Amino acid sequence: MEIITTLSDLAAWVQQAKRQGESIGLVPTMGYLHEGHISLVDMAKSENAKVIMSIFVNPAQFGPNEDFDRYPRDLERDSKLAAAAGTDVIFAPTAEEMYPRETHIQLSAGPLADVLCGAKRPGHFDGVLKVVTKLFHLVQPDRAYFGQKDAQQLAIIESLVEDFNFPLSIRRGETVREDDGLAKSSRNVYLSEQERKEAVHLRKALLIGKEAVLKNEEAVQQVTEYLEREVSGKIDYVELLSYPTLDQHIQDQAILALAVQFEKARLIDNIIFTVEGKN
Ligand code: AMP
Repeated sequence: MEIITTLSDLAAWVQQAKRQGESIGLVPTMGYLHEGHISLVDMAKSENAKVIMSIFVNPAQFGPNEDFDRYPRDLERDSKLAAAAGTDVIFAPTAEEMYPRETHIQLSAGPLADVLCGAKRPGHFDGVLKVVTKLFHLVQPDRAYFGQKDAQQLAIIESLVEDFNFPLSIRRGETVREDDGLAKSSRNVYLSEQERKEAVHLRKALLIGKEAVLKNEEAVQQVTEYLEREVSGKIDYVELLSYPTLDQHIQDQAILALAVQFEKARLIDNIIFTVEGKN
């Protein structure tokens, strides 16, 4: 497996793959890999001749008081995991390489970012769009892989591709979980022992909420009350919306999503399910 750090080496690799008529699958990540990331590589491998994973902790998507400096990083460990999964190339640029200067044009995620994490993390999804747009142009993938764990991100990137006719398809990966149901996340390493025990209740709360929705009961309140009882972290939000449109008019697919701020880690999780005949 090759590790590429510069845009010029990346361009040469992309050109070579294109010349050989090989399809490219892109798995964008911020590293500190876990089975969630690897499941996206597995999907990408099954659908493309070449798989490239980007590992870049994107400063543009972190707010001033967020965990950019503390975000876990370990390229050596990541390289072993990515290679073992059959990744062909890791693209791991520096921030200077990706952003040699401030961009003149700014991308805005619009109304899809007015809810859930977007409402709590102003500018976050604009920063995601910035890096993803660059990655799509640099890598020119046939397919790019994103996890439903970050369901709002996925919805926004699907809109970007559709709205602006990016010539690639976005593929959705299921959320990979620990045995007790906690969604795998690079940030889980920052949970204390006690918080790790409590974190299992995020998924449990979502399952309770889903049942409530299907029984036409008030779900958000039930989920909130359950979390207030079971976790010491601060509830950032609990929301029930349509998916992937992220509005209040639930017709077919619904998303129940939550975020909990623990001492050092903010965890998110969601469940997406079919709701028939609701409005
Ligand atoms: P991150 O490194 O956290 O930015 O995540 C990179 C990609 O992996 C994103 O598309 C995430 O949605 C996806 N991802 C993160 N955690 C999981 C998980 N537990 N299961 C599936 N995909 C995940």
